[in-house]
Amino acid sequence: MDEAAKNKRIATYRQICRDQGLRSTVQKRAILQAVLNLDTHPTADQVYEVVIRTNPDISRTTVYRALESFARSGIITKACHPGSATRYDPNIEIHHHLICLQCDAVIDISDTGLDRTPIPDTSAFEFEVQDFRVQLRGICGRCRNKNQ
Ligand SMILES: [Zn+2]
Ligand SMILES: [Zn+2]
Repeated sequence: MDEAAKNKRIATYRQICRDQGLRSTVQKRAILQAVLNLDTHPTADQVYEVVIRTNPDISRTTVYRALESFARSGIITKACHPGSATRYDPNIEIHHHLICLQCDAVIDISDTGLDRTPIPDTSAFEFEVQDFRVQLRGICGRCRNKNQ
């Protein structure tokens, strides 16, 4: 994500805080900055590892809670969770994922063909679809090299 896009997202976050009467703390902004800087679909723990370098007083719980609240307000999204931990995604545009079954890497892919995938009728499940991601599962280049 480029600097301009990051700054725009942080501005959006501040606006949401103002609209919802939430406090935009220095710690929360550091957490948002960290997740925007990572293009690996990080887990909360991975975000924590980055944030702790500049904010040694931050707690793991603060990071977990902040990421959940960012996801609720649409500042980031929750991606799939191929491993055991939730993965957060700073990319909120419609896009899809290549998922490595070996190392749990999640790689963004944009494809207008996939974007037009028809959404099935889910009313029988009383389920309202808001969004979708196609997961293409397989083995990433790095793992394929290692396997050889
Ligand atoms: Zn892999
Ligand atoms: Zn993604």
